[in-house]
Formats: sequence, structure tokens, C-alpha cells
Amino acid sequence: MNRKTLHPATLAAQALGSTDASTGAVVLPIHTATTFLRDPDNQYRRGRSYGRADNPTYDQPQALLTALEGGAASLLFSSGMAAAAAVFHCLPRDAHVVAPQVMYWGLRNWLRNFAEAWGIEVEFVDAAALDALRRAVRADRTRLVWIETPANPLWSVTDIAGAAEIAHAAGALLAVDSTAATPVLTRPLDFGADLVMHSATKYLNGHSDVIAGSLTTTREDGFWARLCAARSSGGAVLGSFEAYLLLRGMRTLFPRVERACRSAQQIAEALSRHPRVLEVLYPGLPKHPGHAVAARQMTGGFGGMLSVRLNGGAEAAIVAAARVEIWKRATSLGGVESLIEHRASVEGADSPVPADLLRLSVGIEDPADLISDLESAIGSL
Ligand SMILES: *Cc1c(COP(=O)(O)O)cnc(C)c1O
Repeated sequence: MNRKTLHPATLAAQALGSTDASTGAVVLPIHTATTFLRDPDNQYRRGRSYGRADNPTYDQPQALLTALEGGAASLLFSSGMAAAAAVFHCLPRDAHVVAPQVMYWGLRNWLRNFAEAWGIEVEFVDAAALDALRRAVRADRTRLVWIETPANPLWSVTDIAGAAEIAHAAGALLAVDSTAATPVLTRPLDFGADLVMHSATKYLNGHSDVIAGSLTTTREDGFWARLCAARSSGGAVLGSFEAYLLLRGMRTLFPRVERACRSAQQIAEALSRHPRVLEVLYPGLPKHPGHAVAARQMTGGFGGMLSVRLNGGAEAAIVAAARVEIWKRATSLGGVESLIEHRASVEGADSPVPADLLRLSVGIEDPADLISDLESAIGSL
């Protein structure tokens, strides 16, 4: 059987089909060693020396992620933020970077507070408009275009192929935060992106019990070598148990994401009809401004994330979040349990998030329960 012809869902379910050669175990062991034997002639022929440089427990999740993204190589990091920060750390000091106005707020704050402080110039643009991206890139000065699609928490959509063309014409790399899309729905490298980043804390792990991040590259070039060195020398490495749990989570990635997508679509449609709802933000709704682009670059669904704006402003949103019983009031996303959050309470003053917005991360519960819980919370406002 040629592994290259197998469907991604098969590769994920079997974690690439590997078994432990020495025992026949169908689950690979967790390697906890921080150091490895040298050969008598002083070489490290097995390729391992120290746990910060590399960890055998990473091999399988990195290989699986590489296969799912259709890339050349992947690196796990101690968090999504560590993965993203590594990309910016590896840029030259005076680099010009184009980033979206609508993006994961933690990374936007970090760019403001840290990346800009050491000389990186970040220009925030409406990345849903390719014209705005085109105007922002500067030939030979822009080193990186960073996009996120669908983007937290308005779920605006960026045309990856269009952004790649614009970045490459200026001599810049395109990196995509694909946390919300997951490799189940979108493979950014197929559309011309150079790097894909995930907060593996979210869908890849899927059980709200691991903080992890990843990068996948389309080619093993000099920039990738720099990223590998940045992880091992910078030290943002994932623990062995977390790497094991992450692989365990990735084995159920497809059924979890497929169900979350189906339920999110139903929830978005049900809430769209509710009289107390001002707007539902979900790329799967035909009236969403990014729907056509999302339909082109997402396969099998539009993701498990949506946001809802309620009539009655911040107060109504906070009260509704207080009244749900099945949805958990908590930050984060991509777990098997559904989460609800008033984002304006979390994001800073320069956030584009309306005060009346609740962000919903749809889990794998029965969608009828999720819908009736929301309808009774919103209906009692
Ligand atoms: C959570 C998240 C991050 C940050 O990842 P951590 O694992 O929390 O460090 C980055 N991007 C997106 C879209 C996220 O949801």
C-alpha cells in the first residue's frame, strides 16, 4: 500500500501507521530521556544528543503534521505563541512585516509590545482585502506577510493564494496562522504559503489539556534551518508527555473537526433566525463577506468557530453568557467541549471586536442541546 495515496483521515487515525519495532506496540512510547549516548568514537551517529535539540517523542506528531499539511517538515513548540514568536525572532532586525488588523489578540499585543521594540516594523491592514495587502507590502523591505484565516474572532477570511502572490512579488514570505481552519479544512501550503502555524493547543490536541504550537514549512531552506536552530537554542521545547498527548489528540482530529463544522453550521443558521441576534459571523453563511473565498479554500466545512452579536450591547452579551448551562464560559477554543466567551472583556483597547460579541467554540456535543441552551439563554434577555 502506497502511503502517499491514503486519505489524510486514515493517516491521522493511525498516526501514520507506525508501531514500535522493539515491542510491536501499536502506540509509540514516550521518550523522557534528556540526554543520549555518544558512540565510542565520539560521534552521535543516531542523530540525538540532548533533549533541548530534539526529542524522539516529537518524530511522529511532526511527521503526521507534515503529511496532513502537505509540507516538507514541521517543528513542535511549547505553545502556539512560541511557534509564532520564533518566526518573528528569525527575521532581520529592521524587517517590515504586514499583519492583519483582525487576528489572535495575544499575537497582536506581542507584536506591539515586543517585536516593534526590537526594530521590526509591523503594519496592520485589513487582510480580507487583497488591495490593502498589496498597498502595504514594500518591495525588498517586507520580509513577512502574516495572515490568519478564518481570523479570530470576527472570522474574516483571507484569500491565501492571493496573499501568497502579493508576498512573493515583494520578496516576502507568507505565513498563515491556520489554527481555526486546521489541516482538515485548509492546507495553506497548497495555496502558495511558505509557513503554516498552529496553536496545537486548540483543534490539533482537541482536549483542552495541552499547550503546544507548531510550524510547518513548504521547503527546508535557510529560513527553516534558522527556525530549527531558534527552537533548540531558544529552548521553547514541548515536554515529552505533551508531545504524546498531542499525537493522541491528532488521531481523532478528523471526526472532531467534521462534527464541530456540521454543528457550527446548524448553530449559525439557527441563531441567524433569532430576533435578539444582531448578526452571526460565520464563513459558512452565504451572506458572510468571506464566504466565496472560504468556499474556495476550505474543504468539508467552514470550521467550528463562530461569533454572535446580540441586540442590547455588552450587557446583553455578558448576561447571555452567564445564563448558558451547557456551554462553558471560558477562553480558548478547539476542544471537545463547547466554550463561550465575551471577547471585548479579554482583548485590549485596540481590538476590532464589538462589545456585543460572544465567541463560540463548538465542541462535539449533540448540536440540538447546544442550540436549545443558547436559545434559552438569549430568549430570556
Ligand atoms: C490560541 C491561539 C494562538 C496562541 O496559541 P497558544 O497555544 O495559546 O500559545 C495563536 N493563534 C490563534 C488563532 C489561537 O487561537
